Amino acid sequence: PRAVPADLGEALHATFGFNAFRGVQEQVVGRVMAGQSTLAVMPTGAGKSLTYQLPATLLDGTCVVISPLIALMHDQLRSAQANGIRAAALTSADTDREATIEAFRAGELDLLYVAPERASQAHFRDLLSRARVCLFAIDEAHCVSEWGHDFRPDYRLLRPLMDAFAEVPRLALTATADAHTRADILTQLGIADDGLIVAGFDRPNIRYAIVPRDQPVRQLTRLIAETPGAGIVYAQTRAQVERLAEQLGATGRPVLPYHAGLPGDVRAANQAAFVASEDMVMVATIAFGMGIDKPDVRFVAHAGLPKSIEAYYQETGRAGRDGDPSVALMLWGAEDFVRARQRLSEVDEARLGGERTRLDSLAALVETAACRRALLLRHFGEHPPEKCGNCDNCLDPPGVSDATDVARKLLSAVYRTGQTYGLGHIEKVLTGHSDDRIVERGHDRLSVFGIVNEDEARLIRPLARALQARGALLSTEHGGLMLGGDARAILKGEAAVAVVVPPKKERKGRGRSGT
Ligand code: ADP
Ligand code: ZN
Repeated sequence: PRAVPADLGEALHATFGFNAFRGVQEQVVGRVMAGQSTLAVMPTGAGKSLTYQLPATLLDGTCVVISPLIALMHDQLRSAQANGIRAAALTSADTDREATIEAFRAGELDLLYVAPERASQAHFRDLLSRARVCLFAIDEAHCVSEWGHDFRPDYRLLRPLMDAFAEVPRLALTATADAHTRADILTQLGIADDGLIVAGFDRPNIRYAIVPRDQPVRQLTRLIAETPGAGIVYAQTRAQVERLAEQLGATGRPVLPYHAGLPGDVRAANQAAFVASEDMVMVATIAFGMGIDKPDVRFVAHAGLPKSIEAYYQETGRAGRDGDPSVALMLWGAEDFVRARQRLSEVDEARLGGERTRLDSLAALVETAACRRALLLRHFGEHPPEKCGNCDNCLDPPGVSDATDVARKLLSAVYRTGQTYGLGHIEKVLTGHSDDRIVERGHDRLSVFGIVNEDEARLIRPLARALQARGALLSTEHGGLMLGGDARAILKGEAAVAVVVPPKKERKGRGRSGT
């Protein structure tokens, strides 16, 4: 056993070489040292690992770290060992398991990393009872909650295990938890409500911009031209990554692809090239970025809708770790929401509510005319000022129109034409542009034929996008539109619809885009 230094700062410097704690680190470490169970919600890059690694070197006994991914576990293991911390992992990938168990029982380990599947087995419990454990650290703790975005049933078995060692404090760590998930983590892991510590989520140097996608290559090319320095463009599929990487090559910047379909050595080489580069653009699936230490990423762009606000925050958070001005640009399309809502039909009952809420929150983020940062921070339970002054909506406020009337005309045209036609057809009906199909189906005789005027006609597309984002318009299997969500309430005049009119600058720039 080592002597606990009077000053934690001294220990911090001795072990990690850092001069000061960052943010809530000190508070979390203090609680752990005092034996108080804690849930620490800290954004990626805030330095979560240190909050259990430092106490592990000071307390008598071993800190058992539950971590869901073997690859991440080994990264952490290596960096802990590099700081002289006595650490080992017990996974199927570790061949020295016997030696590790010996060292653990002999009290020669500061840290023991283990996956939840193994931790929940009876023989692991036996092993713990024959060793000395000073702390349970549960990494990626949102995995314990069905409300979280990455539920792992094995995490539910941790509570009974830890309850068997009730005197050992628990430290749950996560970067991504909204208020709902947080409360659930506390319950599921048996941590008292007053054990919650939340670090500030604001990243003031990141400028958020979220715009409809019309010509993605042109939009991204402009971003790249305006933003010197290295950047990441996230695309949704491997094919999109390949295509975009090729198209963005025309910008003259070095561009490389990254996705799980590339051979491991190519991925490693591309990643290393990116980390070393000062102007490279990496076009990647979300497989890229986790655990990458590159502080000077100047922009992160999403070519399509991210999975959730948490994912968006985490992915954009890879920009500007050095604190210098950086840009996060998201391009989204109504079809992204259509696909995401279709995927909801495959989600099992227990998770449906959570998934739907997650999508609605994203819709609110992209559709808002108010401050993006304020919405993000409120999502993470903070109380930010109304305006940040460093997002698209603060810098160039869009106009907002009450489009409830046009929305009712649009929805009723969808309804009256039988909920089978796409937006092109509906638009013609509403604006009174006849064609053969319209005459053939008798749609020129409907009361909605030619019902919108020229001003209203310009709102149809942004409106359809907004209605699709909020789920009031859904897509049929064949790409037609049908009513969903609160469409009926809108038709009955019980719900209002506002539509964001793009700021003048953007509209001019978009030229012949057709929106
Ligand atoms: P997280 O797990 O929260 O994403 P990490 O634990 O990986 O973050 O830490 C992110 C980076 O910050 C690491 O490079 C780590 O060495 C560094 N770091 C952590 N704490 C401090 C500190 N107090 N001072 C300086 N650097 C720190
Ligand atoms: Zn703002």
